[in-house]
Amino acid sequence: AAKAQGRDKLALFEPALDIAARERRRIESDLSEALRKGQMRMQYQPVVDLDTGETTGFEALLRWHHPERGIMGPGEFLQVAEETGLISSLGEWVIRQSLADVSAMPGNLRIAINLSPTQVKNPNLVATVAQAIHATNIAPERVELEITEHVLMEDQESGHTTLMRLRELGIRIALDDFGTGYSSLGYLRRFPFDRIKIDRSFVTDIASDFGSQAIVSTITRLADALGMDTTAEGIEESAQLELLRKLGVHEAQGYLISRPVPPEELFDMEGGKGEVVLAADFESYRKR
Ligand code: C2E
Ligand code: MG
Ligand code: MG
Ligand code: MG
Repeated sequence: AAKAQGRDKLALFEPALDIAARERRRIESDLSEALRKGQMRMQYQPVVDLDTGETTGFEALLRWHHPERGIMGPGEFLQVAEETGLISSLGEWVIRQSLADVSAMPGNLRIAINLSPTQVKNPNLVATVAQAIHATNIAPERVELEITEHVLMEDQESGHTTLMRLRELGIRIALDDFGTGYSSLGYLRRFPFDRIKIDRSFVTDIASDFGSQAIVSTITRLADALGMDTTAEGIEESAQLELLRKLGVHEAQGYLISRPVPPEELFDMEGGKGEVVLAADFESYRKR
């Protein structure tokens, strides 16, 4: 009887697993055609200097315009892209598209592009980046590549070599989501990052949590001592912005300042000047 009952229980879960597996296969097959069908788009989120309030650059963020599911963020498909190997073509497209978009924008602002661990392991990455920079004729100093600690964790030697070769091209390397991985301090000593991006998790409760304040303050002083810039991500409230500025964080990014937007919505071209459009709340904070 117990055996029969066990079987019944199992049977209950099978359909759910089936659905998940089928769903995943659909995403896989849709994803393999998404680039060819022109369903991938880049959005750009402004990053501002906390002293001056001026825009210093943008982070490029990938979006999938799925015909049935609507606009999907990387959280919904990046894992599948990694596991199926589709990330290499997708990643190359992201690099080329972001550099093409930014070279058509007014001014000489910085462009930050995210790299997944698999991309950094690909020996063709350096050539891809070099070609895209050459094709768009963009100054390499304007290009920043964001990696997470996982890159260095998984494959120390080749990851390190690739990053050094990228840096020799004149581009910059940022350590993304800082504080969320393991043994973060060791990486800072081993690799000369240009920037540390302080993870949103420390920003969210910074106005109420003394621990988060202490951590952000320490990261900032450490970065200063190592000659690295800092950007805080995920700012949604002006109290957070105020605190981050007081703690000496250099730059900031978040919905309060601007959401990620399609390239055609980034600039106000009235008067031909090409001013970056920022959220009204941030504009009023700036004017105070
Ligand atoms: P990330 O690099 O840490 O990017 C910041 C994420 O925070 C973005 O999510 C952005 O939309 C979101 N964000 C920005 N400001 C706020 C805020 O004030 N509040 C909240 N709640 N969220 C905010 P998104 O676009 O969904 O991207 C998620 C992650 O996917 C990125 O995290 C990055 O690791 C990865 N990713 C995005 N685009 C690409 C890409 O082109 N290539 C690769 N390899 N990875 C990408
Ligand atoms: Mg990033
Ligand atoms: Mg980040
Ligand atoms: Mg993050």
